[in-house]
Amino acid sequence: MDVIEFSGKNHLEQALSVADKKFTAFTLQCWLRSSDSGPIFQYYGDESNFFSMEITPTGKIEFSSALAGKVETIQSVRGNINNSQWHKLTFMASDNGLAIFVNQKLAISKNVQEGASFSEQINTLLVGKSCNAQGESTFFSGQLANISLWEQSFSDEDIITDNIHNDDFKGNLFSFDWPQKPLEHAVSAEAPLRQEVEINLVNDSPFELHLEPMLCSSETNDFPLVIKENSQVVIKISDSEVGFQKAAQYMNRQNPNVGLVIEVVKSQVIYESFVKVDVLPTLERSITVVSSSANRFEAQVRISENLVIVNANNLNAFITKLSDEIGQDKIIKSLNYCAETEQATSSREQIIAYNQACQLFNRRLQKKPLAIVNCSSTSDVQKTYLAAKAHNLPISVRSGGHDHEGECSGTNTVLIDLIGLDDVDVDTNGLATIGPGNRFIKLTTTLAEHGVMIPHGTCATVAIPGFLMGGGWGPWTRRHGMCCEYLQKAEIVLGNGDIEIIDQDNKPELLWALKGGGGLSYGIVTKLFVQTFPLPNSMIKFELEWNCYQPDTQKLTENTPTIDILTRWEQVISAADTACLTGTNLKINGKPATPYFCANKVKHNCLMYGYWEGDQTSLERFIKQQFTDYGLKPEAQRIDGIGGLGTDYGKQLMSAWDRESFQNIQLNLAGQSGLPLPPDLDEPAPHKITSRLVDCQGLGDAGHKALLQSLTAPDILVGNRELGLFTYVTLGAIDGAYYQKMPDEDKVQSAFPYKDKLYTIQYQTWWNNELIEKEKLQNNPVYIRTNRALDWMEKSRDFDIPNTSGAFISFKDDSIPTSTYFAHNYQRLVEIKKQYSEDQYNHFRKRKTII
Ligand SMILES: Cc1cc2nc3c(=O)[nH]c(=O)nc-3n(C[C@H](O)[C@H](O)[C@H](O)COP(=O)(O)OP(=O)(O)OC[C@H]3O[C@@H](n4cnc5c(N)ncnc54)[C@H](O)[C@@H]3O)c2cc1C
Repeated sequence: MDVIEFSGKNHLEQALSVADKKFTAFTLQCWLRSSDSGPIFQYYGDESNFFSMEITPTGKIEFSSALAGKVETIQSVRGNINNSQWHKLTFMASDNGLAIFVNQKLAISKNVQEGASFSEQINTLLVGKSCNAQGESTFFSGQLANISLWEQSFSDEDIITDNIHNDDFKGNLFSFDWPQKPLEHAVSAEAPLRQEVEINLVNDSPFELHLEPMLCSSETNDFPLVIKENSQVVIKISDSEVGFQKAAQYMNRQNPNVGLVIEVVKSQVIYESFVKVDVLPTLERSITVVSSSANRFEAQVRISENLVIVNANNLNAFITKLSDEIGQDKIIKSLNYCAETEQATSSREQIIAYNQACQLFNRRLQKKPLAIVNCSSTSDVQKTYLAAKAHNLPISVRSGGHDHEGECSGTNTVLIDLIGLDDVDVDTNGLATIGPGNRFIKLTTTLAEHGVMIPHGTCATVAIPGFLMGGGWGPWTRRHGMCCEYLQKAEIVLGNGDIEIIDQDNKPELLWALKGGGGLSYGIVTKLFVQTFPLPNSMIKFELEWNCYQPDTQKLTENTPTIDILTRWEQVISAADTACLTGTNLKINGKPATPYFCANKVKHNCLMYGYWEGDQTSLERFIKQQFTDYGLKPEAQRIDGIGGLGTDYGKQLMSAWDRESFQNIQLNLAGQSGLPLPPDLDEPAPHKITSRLVDCQGLGDAGHKALLQSLTAPDILVGNRELGLFTYVTLGAIDGAYYQKMPDEDKVQSAFPYKDKLYTIQYQTWWNNELIEKEKLQNNPVYIRTNRALDWMEKSRDFDIPNTSGAFISFKDDSIPTSTYFAHNYQRLVEIKKQYSEDQYNHFRKRKTII
C-alpha cells in the first residue's frame, strides 16, 4: 500500500476527468491515520457540484457535497478518528443523500439540504488541503493510503462487506493516477492488522445448544456445531484486515424456549468491537470483556438458566428438604408445586392462611415472603436457616412483627417465624430464660407471677427480641434503665449455622452488640437470658391530661400553653427526687397551623403517662407538688391500672400507652364514654415513625420553639382525628435515677448509645381506623389525607430542632442513615459483626442492619 505523508504544509492536486466536471454520484475511499484535525479532500466543479471531507477537532468526520445543486453536510456521531490508528473511510454521495462509513460500518447518513461555500478557483481534487471563499488555505497532517474514487455509489452492504474492488467496476472507475512517489518523504505504512476474536463461552445451563441456520447472516463455520450443557467452548475467529461482523444462532432441540443468538463485531477501533448475546427468556447471559485492542478482542460469555427459574427451582428444593427435616405443616406458602405435573395449585383456604401469616403490625407495608416457616425449637431455626442458605434464598426473621419498617419480613425471602418459641423460665437467682416468641402481655404476667420484672415496653403485643436488641425503652427506664442492660447471655444461630451460647466468657463482644446494636445483624437469637429485678408491691399506671378534646365535638380546649407543660415535664424527669416515677411519656398532639404562631402561647392536647411506684396517696402528692403547685393542674387525671406483686400484671399495667383509639373518639362523638381498653388500641394499623433524641441539657428555648412549631403544621388537616388519622409526638424519658447514678465506666457495657440523652422524641402518624377499614375498604375518606400526614412526618424528620441529634433504632425510619442510629458505636458494631457473626455474605441483612 502506498502511503502519502502530509506534514500540515504540503498537499496534492489532481485534475479530474469528470464529464462536464459534474458528478451525479460518487464514492471516495481511503485509509487514514492522523492525530490532528483538518481537511482531507476538496473538489470544486462549479457552484452546484463540489464536495469536501475533513476531520473536526474532536475527531469526527465531516462530509459536505453538492450534486446537481443539492447541498448537504453530515458529520459522524462518534469522534476520536484522529486517535493515531488506521481507519478505513468511505464517503458516498448520490441522489439519495450522503453517507460516511468508518471501518466499513455506517457512521452516519443524511438527506437534508444545507449550505456550503467554496472558492471558485478550485477545479481539481485537492488532497490534504482546502480553500475557503476568501482563498485562505488549511492543510492536513497525517497519512493517507489506498485512495480510490469511483464515479458511482454502491449499496451499503457492498461497503460493509468490502465488496467493491477496482476490477469489478472498471467501466465506472474513475481513473486516478497517483505518482509512484508523490512526495520525497512518502513512507510505507505497516499493513492494517489482522483481526482476531476469542470468545470463551461457558454454558452453565442444563441445556445442550445446537447451531442453527440463520435467516440473514454470514457464514457460521467459525462457531462450534454443539455447545454441551454445563460445558465450556472457545470460539476463535480471525479475519480480513478491515474488521468483521459474524453471528450464529443456537437452539435446544427439546425445548423451543431455549436459544440464543451470538453476534461478534470486530473493528480496528477499540470501542466499536463487541460481542452481543440475545437469549430467549429461559436463559440469562453475562458478558465480560477481557481485553480489546486494535487487532484482538477477547471476552467471556456465560450462559445460565434464567435466575427467576433458578430461584423457583431453589425454592422447590428448599421446601422438599425442609419438609423432610421439620415437617411440612410448619411451612406456610401460597402455592403447592407438583414436580411430576409441573403444576402449582392452591386452595382458597391456603391463600387466606398465607396472607394472614404475611400480616405485619404496620399495615402500611405489604411483604410477600416465598414461604413462612413456623419454628418451634432452636433446631427448627437452625435447619430452616441452613436449608435457605444452601438453596441460595434470602431470609427474614420475625418475632413480634412490630418493626416499624417491616424489616422482620421481606418479599421473596424465607421468613423464619419465632413466635412459637415462647417458653419462659425464672431461676432462683432471678435470671429469666425467655424464648423470642414472647410478647409482653404474656411475658410480664409470667414474670410477675414469679415476683420479678424486666424493663419492658409500653405495647402489649411487642415481642422481646427486637425490643431488647434495639435497647428497650419503657415505663421502667428512669428507674431501671433500658432492657438491654440486663441481658446476661443469649443462645444464637450464627451465620455458619452453629448454635452458640454467648456470654461474658464466650464472644463477650457479640453479647455487647446484642445490647442495643439492633435486631438481626449478628445472628438469630433463640433464647435470651435476662436478669430480672424484684417487683414492687404496688405500681400505678396513670395519665394526666391538659387541653383536652371536648368529647362531643372533639374541639380542643385551650387552657394551658404547651410550653409550660413541656418545660415542667422536662424538669420532673431530670430531677433527682422523682425516682418513684419509674418511667414516663409526654404525648403532644399535633394540630393545624395557626395564622400567628407564638411558641409561648400555642396550646396542644398534652397527655402525660407514667408508672408510679407507690400508692395512690403518694401519687396524688406527686401530681400536686410537681404540677398543680406550678399552676399546671391537670384537667383530667386517670388511673389506668394498679398492679404489682400478686396482681395480674399484664391486664393491669400493659394496656397500650401511646396510641389513640378511633373507636373511643367515635363513641365520644356519639355521646358515650370510651372504653377503658378499646379493642382497636393494640390492633395492627398503618403508620410511620421517625425519631431523634434530646441532648442532656434539654431542648432550651430555641428547641422548644422549633418542636412546637413542627407540631403546628399545615400538613395536619382539620378533621383528621375524627377520621382516625393521628399525628403527634411522644417524648420518652431516659433520664432518671438509673443513668444518673451509673458510673461512666459502666456506660460502655452495652451498645445502646444514648444513655446520656434526656428523652426520645418520636414523631408518629397512624390511621388506626380498624372498623371503618373493614366496612369501607378502599372507599374511605382517610385516604384523601394520609399523604399529607406522611409529608408531615418527613418534614418533621428534617425539621431543625436545636439540641437534638441521633435516632432510636427501635423507632425505625428507613430514610435515616444506619450510622445515625448507633452513633459512636457504629464502627465497633461493624467490626464485631465481621469478626464474630460468621456471616461472610451478610445473610443477616435488612436495610438498617449493621454493614
Ligand atoms: C405499637 C408499638 C409500640 C412500641 N413501643 C415500644 C416501646 O415502648 N419501647 C421500645 O423500646 N420500643 C417500642 N416499639 C418498637 C419495638 O420495640 C421494635 O419495633 C421492636 O423491634 C419490635 O420487636 P419485635 O420482636 O416485636 O419485632 P420484629 O418486627 O419481629 O423484629 C424486629 C427486628 O428484629 C429482628 N429480630 C426479631 N427477632 C429476632 C431474633 N430472635 N433474632 C435476631 N433478630 C431478630 C427482625 O428481623 C427485625 O429486624 C414499639 C413498636 C410498636 C409497633
